[in-house]
Formats: sequence, C-alpha cells, structure tokens
Amino acid sequence: MDPYAMESEKLLRSARDRSADTEFHLPLPAGYEKGSTKYVVVVGTVMSGLGKGIFSSSLARCLQDKGLTIAPIKLEGYLNIDSGTLNPFRHGEVFVLDDGAECDMDLGTYERALDIDLTRLNFVTSGQIYRRVLDRERTGGYLGRDVQMIPHVTGEVMNRLRELAVASRADVVFVEIGGTVGDVENAYLIEAMRQLAFEEGPHSVCFVALTYVMEPPTLGEQKSKPAQLGVRELMERGIQPHIIACRAQNPVHREVREKIALFSNVPPERVFSMHDCESVYQIPEMLRGAGYDRAVCEYFELGDRLDENAERQARDRWNEYTTRLRSVSRQVSIGVTGKYTSVRDAYASIIKAFEHAGVWLGANVQIRWVDTTDITLDSAEAELEGLHGIVTPGAFGSRGAEGKIACVHHARTSGLPLLGICYGFQMAVIEFARDVCGLDDANSTEIDPDCAHPVIGILPDQKKIRQFGGTMRLGGYDIEVAPGTLAARMFGERTRMRFRHRYEVDPQYVERLEAAGMRFSGRTVRDDIRNILELPQSTHPFFIGTQAHPELTSRPLRPSPMFLGLVHAALGRAYPGESFDLVYPAEEAASRQENPA
Ligand code: GLN
Repeated sequence: MDPYAMESEKLLRSARDRSADTEFHLPLPAGYEKGSTKYVVVVGTVMSGLGKGIFSSSLARCLQDKGLTIAPIKLEGYLNIDSGTLNPFRHGEVFVLDDGAECDMDLGTYERALDIDLTRLNFVTSGQIYRRVLDRERTGGYLGRDVQMIPHVTGEVMNRLRELAVASRADVVFVEIGGTVGDVENAYLIEAMRQLAFEEGPHSVCFVALTYVMEPPTLGEQKSKPAQLGVRELMERGIQPHIIACRAQNPVHREVREKIALFSNVPPERVFSMHDCESVYQIPEMLRGAGYDRAVCEYFELGDRLDENAERQARDRWNEYTTRLRSVSRQVSIGVTGKYTSVRDAYASIIKAFEHAGVWLGANVQIRWVDTTDITLDSAEAELEGLHGIVTPGAFGSRGAEGKIACVHHARTSGLPLLGICYGFQMAVIEFARDVCGLDDANSTEIDPDCAHPVIGILPDQKKIRQFGGTMRLGGYDIEVAPGTLAARMFGERTRMRFRHRYEVDPQYVERLEAAGMRFSGRTVRDDIRNILELPQSTHPFFIGTQAHPELTSRPLRPSPMFLGLVHAALGRAYPGESFDLVYPAEEAASRQENPA
C-alpha cells in the first residue's frame, strides 16, 4: 500500500469519533495546544518565478538562527499525490526525502537552507488533501453531512499544518503556498489560511505577501501598481498581510514602498525591498539587515524564546561560508552529460552540490551541459574537450544512453575524473562489462530487455509492481563501505544516502566485474544492493559511481564527499603543476577521534 493511503487509513480509524454538529468540523489533533505554535504563511502575488522558495527558506533560516525550531511545509495546488510522476522537464527535479517521499524541488531548498531532514509531513498536495477527505467520506467520517470545500476540505488543510506542529514541536511552522494569489488551484488553500488565522487567534499567524515591483526599461522608474493590485487581491480574500516583501531588480525606493503601504494597510516599516543580490547565500543577511526577522518575532511576541548567542554563532558560521564564496579563485569546468539539458531545474540539486563543494575547495565550478543524444564512441572525446571532470546523472528510459556510455568510456580510458549517479552508475557498469570484461552485448534491461548480458536488471521487488507513483525503491538507506577504498576515505565505515530507482547491478555479474578491476565498495545493509563502485586510484585518478543520489544530501556547510572528490580531482587536472589538499570530513573526524585535542 502506498504511504499516503496508509496515512489516510490511520486517520480514518478516528473518523467516526468526530462530531457532526459543528461548523468547525475537524477537531484539533491529539496533543495540539493552540497558541503554542506560530505560523508564518508566505503567499505570492503578481506572478510566479519570483524565488518564493528561496525567500521563504531564507526567512525561515533567520528565525532558526535565533534558536527557534522551524518546520517548513509546502502546500501545492496540483492534484498529483506527490511529485513522483512529474516530468522534470516541465516541473524541475523530483526531490526525494529520507522517508521516501517524492517532492517538489523546494523541499530541497528548505533542507539545504535549514540543514534539517524533512519528511512527507512537510509536503502537501491537493491530491493528498482530497484523497483524505474522500476516503473519510467513504468510511462514514462525515455521516449525515454534505461534504463541502468549507469547512471540510479547508479543515483538512489546517489539520495537516497542526499535525506537523505536533510532530515537529516547532515554535514556528513555515507555510509556503505554491502558485500565486488568484490561481483557481490554490484558492482553497488561501481560504484555509484565512480560517487558520481566525481559529488560532491574534498574533499566531503572520502573513507575508511576496510581490513584484516592475521597472520597465522604457520608463526607467519603478511602478507599484501591479504590486498594489496583487496585494489587494489577497485582501479581497479576507487576508490582511503583516509584511510585504517587494521583489525587484534594484532596491525599492522609499516612495514606492510608501505607496504600497498606503494601499495595503501595512505600515511602511514592514514593506521591505527584496531586490536581486549577487548570490542566494547572501539573502539571509540581507533579510536580517532589512529587519524582516525582527518584524516576524515582534508580531508573534516571541521575545522570550529567542537566543542571541545561538544567533551570533549561526551567523558567524554562515558568514564564513559566504566569505569563502567571495574568495574563490580557481575555475574548473565540469560536464553534466544528461538529457534534460535544456532545463536546469531538472538538475537543481546537482548544481547546488557543486556550489557547496566548490566553495569548500575554493573553486568556481562552471557546468557545461552535454546533451548525449547524438554522442558516439568516436565523437565523445571532442564533445568533452576542455572539461576537467564529468558527472553522468540520473535518468530514465533509453534515449541518450549510448551517448552516456561513450562519455563514460572516454572518461575511463583517458583519466578524466568521473562521478556516475544512479543511471550514470549503471552506465559505468555497462561500459566496463562491454569493454573490459568483453561482454559485448552487456546492457540494462531498462534499455534492452533482450540483451545477452543484463548486467543491470530490475530489482526483484519491482517485478510485481504495476502501479505508477511512489513505487520505486525510494528514500534513505544505510550503506556499508568496504575498508581501504576511496569510498572509505569519503565516508568511513558507514554512510546513508537516498535512492530512487527500479534497477540494480545484477549480483550474478559482480564477481566477473570485480575480477576485471572494478571495485564495489558500498552496499546497502538492509537489502544487500551494490551501490558504490570505483576504480582503484592506481589505475584512474578519480572514477566513482553510486546507485544513490549524493546530490540530495549535500548542504552548504556539509558538502557531499563525492562532489568534493570530483571537484578536487578536476582541480588537479585543471592546474597540473599544483597540489590541492583534500581531507574528507570523515577522515578529519577519524583523526580527531584518534588524537583528541
Ligand atoms: N532508470 C534507472 C533505474 O530506475 C535509474 C534511475 C535514476 O537515475 N534515478 O534504476
């Protein structure tokens, strides 16, 4: 049974206890204390694409730095149960959480900004909400009542927020509503937030409207009308914002902010500029400088829960990162050999993982997108000319596979550093089986079900599955690492990574591949799946792959060791005369244990 259905069932058990005699239809979840959790609700106006996720997660980060426990939650208007069946071309990457939830990429933004692991409680779609309501209806949870958008569907939305509040014991639940005010899809979500504010009482729900101040080049001045109209649209829905954040290209002038204040009943000191800045990592400091965090805490009257010392330390750590970012002096070029190369959002976490590793090592990683659809063994060298390393990322289906295999072949035989991720790991196995083990027709059954040597085959658990959505091997698994390998330098004895796949290395071929020199240096403890491969560093400077997705757990202050390794090896190639030190965090931790200071 899929986890969302399971969750509904759990709820339904208590459904019959509910009273049908009140308009406040859903009782509060067990353990919920009104007033103890505060809610920040961020809504977008005027248009999408303003960086609502980055803004929200940065503001959440500012509050977290003050010592508050933050639980972010993204409410999506679409009817899918999760993001698992969405095409990354249209919608950006599918971000997988440790518990296996397949989410919108914004959950990645929150995990990276807050450096916490989220769960399926942090991600809500209309599909999940309606499913719960309909399931409850069928099991008699609303007996005698007509089931309505208000209060039942909106009640369910509030229920999800309150369940998160109870489970996370957060001081602040940080709600981001997908889309913009005025979308038909999210109208009921916004209505639910209006009700939430009413039910929770004053100073419990802080509405932040993100809006847009235009600066048409032909006029050369900032215009506030669209912002005014956008905020008014929110007010027409019964919501008075407390804070307005004005996205704009340049700092928003005082007169423009005053005009917006005048038309929206928000005091001018709470209408803030949110103009473009050099790097997203500077946004938390920019928000603090403007006073956003203070405005939220004052509204919530949270003074007694704030910890100034914690805030100072957190800011120092973060500022160290942004200072390093500014002092980056080297350049490396890394190719990402993919197929969705026209849509960068499809590889959002990979881009971020490179940023984290690059800052750590003082290197600016320039990514070159390499579409593999037409690459052959003969053209690979020319296509990859000038690169200092490549990543072969995750993928599904067969288009571009032979091109990826050709790129892996070139990397393996020319000493070009390579990191293979998931599908890329599988391509590395196929290439090695063909070229080194002499299994000419080696392939994955995903690509060629009838090949003579299916070195990559479907996972036994996957064979019986017919349904789409939430059915892959998903989420975090512990990985045991073989001692004395490159992986062991990176991770020590054990690590944990996240997965999203249906195929694996066929265990029958492992011995043969290993005899020819490929080393499987990591396997998952629970189900014994091979999931890290490497070539000994005596034969190749850096050649590693994993069935997992290391990019999903890379964080600014805790970069992924696999990306560190790749960028480090690329530096070695880009600056051949110089030596670059890299002590992996696991090595550092081990030496600290041996020689405690
Ligand atoms: N298509 C491959 C599989 O399902 C790889 C998946 C991926 O790269 N995420 O196993």
